[in-house]
Amino acid sequence: MNYYYENDMFRIEGISKEHTISDIDIYIGKGILRNTSGYIQKRNLGKKCLIVADKNTYRAAGTELAEVLRQGGILADVCLLYDREDERIEADELSVGQVMMSLEPEPDFLIACGSGVINDITRFVSFIANKPFISVGTAASMDGYTSVTAPMIFDRKKIHRHGNAPKILVLDTEILKNAPNELTIAGFGDVYGKFIAKADWLISNITTGEKIDEQALDLITQALGKLTGNVDEIANATDEGLKAIIEGLILAGITIFTTGQTRAVASVEHNQGHVWETRMLEAGRPYPLHGTAVGCSTGYYLRMYEYFKKTDISRIDRGKAKQRFLNRDAFRERAVKCFGESFLSALEKTNKCLNLTEEDFDYHYDSIVKNWDRILNVLDFLPGWEEYKKIYKKFGHPIHAEKIGIPSDLLRYTLPCSTFYRDRYDFVFVMNILGIADDIAEKALEDYRREE
Ligand SMILES: [Zn+2]
Repeated sequence: MNYYYENDMFRIEGISKEHTISDIDIYIGKGILRNTSGYIQKRNLGKKCLIVADKNTYRAAGTELAEVLRQGGILADVCLLYDREDERIEADELSVGQVMMSLEPEPDFLIACGSGVINDITRFVSFIANKPFISVGTAASMDGYTSVTAPMIFDRKKIHRHGNAPKILVLDTEILKNAPNELTIAGFGDVYGKFIAKADWLISNITTGEKIDEQALDLITQALGKLTGNVDEIANATDEGLKAIIEGLILAGITIFTTGQTRAVASVEHNQGHVWETRMLEAGRPYPLHGTAVGCSTGYYLRMYEYFKKTDISRIDRGKAKQRFLNRDAFRERAVKCFGESFLSALEKTNKCLNLTEEDFDYHYDSIVKNWDRILNVLDFLPGWEEYKKIYKKFGHPIHAEKIGIPSDLLRYTLPCSTFYRDRYDFVFVMNILGIADDIAEKALEDYRREE
């Protein structure tokens, strides 16, 4: 399954005749913001809108957007989200309240002018107020542009709420390339992490028989190829470079749509990022951007994958591994360091992987050992840690978790335990079954220490 462009609209073979996917029109290209009124007219969304932006995104794209709309005969009001000085704007009660109260006079539709948080706020209000929205992206920083769930903060806790997907998504590379470097590298990290997701999915297919959606896997493979083929372009923030990242992010979003789940795009590298975010939020401390966390996490797991591949399966001590896994108290002691008491208690109620029986253990152990050679064979496509380091060096971006604000001890606890965040089979789970997760995590940490 290939993707292509038709008048700047992103199209995927055999998916939809009229739109990019479902009823979403995605436009990607250089200088296409000026066509936005035309895109809106084509969808009959109306003549009055509310633009949601913050002061940075309004400067980056909002001013020009308002002018384009005016020329197209569309009346636009602006809701400029309150500036929070040193703190980031969040998708929380304050922002949602502000946008809700700006729905007077009543618009026909909303426009999210921004990236992650602004889209989350707008998709949620769009859903609640039953008004369609369109999105004008200002950064290639995350894969959630087409998402129907909005990660939000409520009562200072992370929650997920239903939201709408945009009817139209306009991604102008002229705008994306002017985004702060940090946002672009975050987008890169979010896509690059799919190497881990792909590897984990392939392993699960072998050892548990989990079905692979070949189309989704194919799209992710194309996205990764585009990304690694354009590292210099990305480092120099050219139109081509930004296009490579945004296509990767969009393809990832599309696989979530077509498969109805995030299997193709998120595994332990995302789990670890989520755990970091939850724990930092809980501690009232600042946390990195989603893609920054995922990209950083991916580096550690690529290194761990290298050690994983070198495991001498004939020397694994089954009895010891079993004892380690099934000794509830000791196991819980480790897990609680990773997740914290209340978070872990909540996970234990739903996650099967936190309540494995001896029978489950035997099943997994036998299947891994029996299929070891096949597992190694499918992992050839994984990039090495050296390659990863070279890329981040080119970006001038640190690779150490501590440098993006994650405490060393938290990192040490999350590396071998991130798999227990959800019931999704991955190589960290496999390492736990084999009883080698802690050792391999330690080795990777040691290598990172040598990189200081
Ligand atoms: Zn992501």
